[in-house]
Amino acid sequence: MQRAITGFHRDEESHWVAELECGHFQHVRHDPPWQNRPWVITEHGRARMLGERLDCKKCDEGAPPDQIEESED
Ligand SMILES: [Zn+2]
Repeated sequence: MQRAITGFHRDEESHWVAELECGHFQHVRHDPPWQNRPWVITEHGRARMLGERLDCKKCDEGAPPDQIEESED
């Protein structure tokens, strides 16, 4: 299902993760030559992708929304 990107964050391994309007997260790694997403490296590139749509497999599977894992302090 196509879902719009509403934001980004990094996971614990510093990989970029897109936050989708449906509440699911999706990794958007830049790992050439297999996964080529140079736009994710820069703040400008990520800002340009806000509102763009990604195919959300989790929606197709009916998965529950993802949550950012925040460390308790
Ligand atoms: Zn989804």
